[in-house]
Amino acid sequence: MMIADQNLVKKMNKRRLLQEVIHHSPISRANLSKTTGLNKSTVSAQIQEMVDEKFIFEIGQGQSSGGRRPVMLMFNKQAGYAIGVDIGVDDMTVLLTDLDGSIVTERYFDLKQSSPDETIALLLTTNQQMIDTMPASPYGLIGIGICVPGLVNREEQIVLTPNTHWNGVELKKIVESTFNVPVTIENEANAGAYGENIYGAAKAYDDFIYISVSTGIGVGLVLGNELYRGVHGFSGEMGHMTIDFNGPKCNCGNRGCWELYASEKAFRQSLPGEWNDDEIASRLQKNDVELFRALENFGHYLGIGLVNIANTFDPEAVILRNPLIESNPFVLNALKNTLSSRMNVRFDTECAFLPSTLGKNAPALGACSMMIEQFINGITA
Ligand SMILES: [Zn+2]
Repeated sequence: MMIADQNLVKKMNKRRLLQEVIHHSPISRANLSKTTGLNKSTVSAQIQEMVDEKFIFEIGQGQSSGGRRPVMLMFNKQAGYAIGVDIGVDDMTVLLTDLDGSIVTERYFDLKQSSPDETIALLLTTNQQMIDTMPASPYGLIGIGICVPGLVNREEQIVLTPNTHWNGVELKKIVESTFNVPVTIENEANAGAYGENIYGAAKAYDDFIYISVSTGIGVGLVLGNELYRGVHGFSGEMGHMTIDFNGPKCNCGNRGCWELYASEKAFRQSLPGEWNDDEIASRLQKNDVELFRALENFGHYLGIGLVNIANTFDPEAVILRNPLIESNPFVLNALKNTLSSRMNVRFDTECAFLPSTLGKNAPALGACSMMIEQFINGITA
């Protein structure tokens, strides 16, 4: 065998073993050998390397089958930390997680009336504070993942944010040069889909659609267990699919876009008054008829767009991210009724419709998990 091939095989074995330890720890060397089919000396040598590199550590608590207790191996999830940032239209979430995606620190900010320059300044200060208070670890900060509510091209440049003013801001360069760690810029819905797939409601699914409903509607497509980005990175802009070809003009240049009817902004505009979150919560308590009618319409308009999505992708699951949908099963029921009345295929019963389980942290957690995956792949590269 050529040296180059031997190196490749070694890296592949190392990656395989590390993945096994990450997903099945605590696990013994003997069991690793069984589950991977690699011989014991290969397992021993590779594991020793990763113990020396502090990615894996040993504990002495294995189940004994009579003889000596085997030493068990654990993934060192505190070997480093990741920062995930979700810059929304009106707010920002910044999370620090360990390599297992467990949140160590979380900060939330109101961005109403903030310019991109002010937001960047806040982002850099917050990141620095998180780095300063981060627990000591062998690899420190392994990366910063940032998501934005708009189009991000394959070069990770922000090219269009219809509801904010981030077009052309060189965010990746600014953050990379400040902290000297890998930085990824991602679309908010793609990051949310990724987060739900790794840690949340979509763990069990390889083909699902993630729909983030806020000021606009963002869609993340996971097809065949891969995030589908499109040639330029612009896939999933389904908030701008035409629902009414004579409808009102949208910021995107089109008319009658789905998000003009089914976004949370549209839902709030449909209410008889300017009800804030507290007002909505108290009216829900009192079973307010007007509010329930508005929520039913919200579900109905979401369902209209979902008919198009269901007919196009035939997914296993649809995950919806919005606080009102997460807390009112009523909206999901209205949505399913619309689907069943407009589709011959019983999609409403064949596909799982689930509220997000990560809630407002979904995109920032997804951004963290992207950095963690990049780091772990780098260990074995
Ligand atoms: Zn539009």
